Amino acid sequence: MNGKTVLVTGSSRGIGRAIALQFAREGYRVAVNYYDSPDALPETNQANLQQAEDVLQEIEAAGSNGMLVGADVSKPVAAQSMVDKVAKEFGQIDVLVNNVGINKDQLLLRISDAEWEDIISTNLSSAFYCSRAAVKYMMKKRYGRIINISSVVGIGGNAGQVHYAASKSGLLGLTFSIAKEYGARGITANVIAPGFIQSDMTAGFTEEQKAKMLSGIAVGRLGTPEDVANAAAFLASPGASYISGQLIRVDGCLSSL
Ligand code: NAP
Repeated sequence: MNGKTVLVTGSSRGIGRAIALQFAREGYRVAVNYYDSPDALPETNQANLQQAEDVLQEIEAAGSNGMLVGADVSKPVAAQSMVDKVAKEFGQIDVLVNNVGINKDQLLLRISDAEWEDIISTNLSSAFYCSRAAVKYMMKKRYGRIINISSVVGIGGNAGQVHYAASKSGLLGLTFSIAKEYGARGITANVIAPGFIQSDMTAGFTEEQKAKMLSGIAVGRLGTPEDVANAAAFLASPGASYISGQLIRVDGCLSSL
């Protein structure tokens, strides 16, 4: 154990899970956030809890320990109480990884107000709620690492993803501003922009779509959740203490976005 703690939002599967496990391997105590909401069906909440429990077992198998925190982080009260709960249990939140994200590809003309609100509150407002809550604890210790998971489409935009891209661009401004506001308090904030990463989010792509994507990736393969996790762990490491307000693309040198 390295005496440090991390909270990873949306870490019951995909990239968030890989980040949680990477931090566990590096000796962090890990708080695994999974989606849990009074608005969801009880069986959905139960299935998410089960997935999160599996991640906690893997964290323990990696020689670390942690806790589970169910919350819908797109809701301000739920996000705040989740952060408070983790800080109370761990005594401190050293690293916050705002990883939660959803997409629902749709053309601009067909995006409903409800879909826009859903994407923005889940992908962008959640990071604001969690960062605001965590910074309070980080300031007291004069130490903190905030890592936000954006996307390459937040830099270049993408047809069919107006709402998703807008939420991911918003994370850039959020991150850079936190970095400037809290740098003097020992808190760094950085943003990772993954390219095409193999996860449930990209599982629906056809072979034809995958081949097209691959043709634009210089390193010749899709990314893995572990590729993103390695970058997150680096940004939290002592060697990255002078890196703040930065954007790191983890995209294998993707030329199209
Ligand atoms: P994923 O496999 O769909 O996993 C998303 C995770 O977030 C799930 O655990 C999900 O929980 C959780 N979640 C969603 N809404 C939530 C909420 N309101 N409160 C709490 N948890 C919530 O996605 P991923 O591919 O790992 O993506 C992780 C991040 O990377 C996202 O921000 C995504 O935009 C970004 N990203 C991904 C790619 C890619 O190619 N995969 C590329 C660029 C950026 P449930 O299990 O309940 O759904």
